[in-house]
Amino acid sequence: MYDVKSLKAEEFINHEEILATLEYAETNKNNKELIEEILEKARPKKTGRGVECAGLSHRDASVLLACDIPEMTEKIYTLAKEIKENFYGDRIVMFAPLYLSNYCVNQCVYCPYHIQNKEIPRKKLTQAEVEKEVIALQDMGHKRLAIEAGEDPINNPIEYILECIKTIYSIKHKNGAIRRANVNIAATTVENYRKLKEAGIGTYILFQETYHKESYEELHPAGPKHNYAYHTEAMDRAMEGGIDDVGLGVLFGLDKYKYEFAGLLMHAEHLEAVHGVGPHTISVPRLKRASDIDPTQFDNGIDDDTFAKIIACIRISVPYTGMIISTRESEECRKKVLKLGISQISGGSRTSVGGYANEERPHDTEQFDVSDQRTLDEIVKWLMEGGYIPSFCTACYREGRTGDRFMALCKVGQIQNCCHPNALLTLQEYLQDYASPETRKIGEELIDREIVKVPDEKRREKALDYLEKIRKGERDFRF
Ligand code: SAM
Repeated sequence: MYDVKSLKAEEFINHEEILATLEYAETNKNNKELIEEILEKARPKKTGRGVECAGLSHRDASVLLACDIPEMTEKIYTLAKEIKENFYGDRIVMFAPLYLSNYCVNQCVYCPYHIQNKEIPRKKLTQAEVEKEVIALQDMGHKRLAIEAGEDPINNPIEYILECIKTIYSIKHKNGAIRRANVNIAATTVENYRKLKEAGIGTYILFQETYHKESYEELHPAGPKHNYAYHTEAMDRAMEGGIDDVGLGVLFGLDKYKYEFAGLLMHAEHLEAVHGVGPHTISVPRLKRASDIDPTQFDNGIDDDTFAKIIACIRISVPYTGMIISTRESEECRKKVLKLGISQISGGSRTSVGGYANEERPHDTEQFDVSDQRTLDEIVKWLMEGGYIPSFCTACYREGRTGDRFMALCKVGQIQNCCHPNALLTLQEYLQDYASPETRKIGEELIDREIVKVPDEKRREKALDYLEKIRKGERDFRF
């Protein structure tokens, strides 16, 4: 039976409830009146505390996703853009993945790390190699990483991951620093989540891959990841271990996207109902070609238009949840979805273990083909030319604004006085230390134009002072 507050996977991600949701959505997908009503419910509203958005239930959101009346789809896009504009503005947070180890005991049939793949050399970074990778990432300008590793209790035990985190945070090369390390490792115990929290991680990210239990079990035929309940209940254990920023995701292409979409929102509703805080981020990876993986072998791939609609509907449904897109997607696709709700993108990524320290992009241990192969500098420039503000900000988590405290900031409309100057300060650091002359010129003009938009006068003056100090060589200011 469906119970949003249950701690059992099959009750909070309830198959019958998803089927009933999909049926409801199908029945109402041409019901203009209902769709208008749903859009109205989700619209940003002025309240005593500022501008707030109510979000949508998985049922309402599924009606929007199913709707194929072009005029209504346009309205969905317009609302998604409006919500994005309200809470995220033009800022796009930058990050890069760091692959620590591709040793893995699982058999995920879509992932080249699966234990039976003899085509890829197995590699695990030593601490000296982690240091090299981090220096290379810092020299690109990155301040925020997502750590990735296969699941292998012998080769990649939690102690190894913790040691790597310690190394990552300890390295200060020139003006560089990694100020936030998010972690994407397999589902683990409350005790291990507590250790990750103590190590100072940012978000704990774990993709569900698919919410469809039967498919899940077929796609993960053996190994610890085979256990659907253990995997699906991981975020509850993470929160019990004290981590309050968690990141959800589905690997689109494995099962039917409408099913996944409903499951994803039910998962978000569950976290909110049980822990009082929804997911910090949602990632939307799509299945890609990789060593011994042919994505055409999977029947449920989605085209770019459907992908864009999913992103817009997520933006409307969970307005306070950041949305992440990786270099799995091409420049063209990224351009299209940025305005619909994406708030974080990776740049200059290498998905191979030890990939950054090499001059040439190595392919032998790549987790998947990277579509967007531009450098970080090219992406930063491209974003600014497109009207966005690339941000290297990590302030919220370092100021203790995690979980519901970050959402509170959104709700009281302090973003323009907080996130906006923080984005500009970190962009200034980037321009100063890492940008090409052309990128720097575009960036400095952008900062001059944008800094005057900080509404609070005192805050604006302080930000101008910080900018001046950064230009003179000081670093790491934040609100
Ligand atoms: N091993 C960890 C786990 O089991 O959750 C996480 C690390 S794994 C390197 C990160 C993610 O890559 C997986 O959760 C999966 O969604 C994604 N992935 C795996 N194979 C992929 C492929 N062929 N194309 C795109 N993404 C893929």
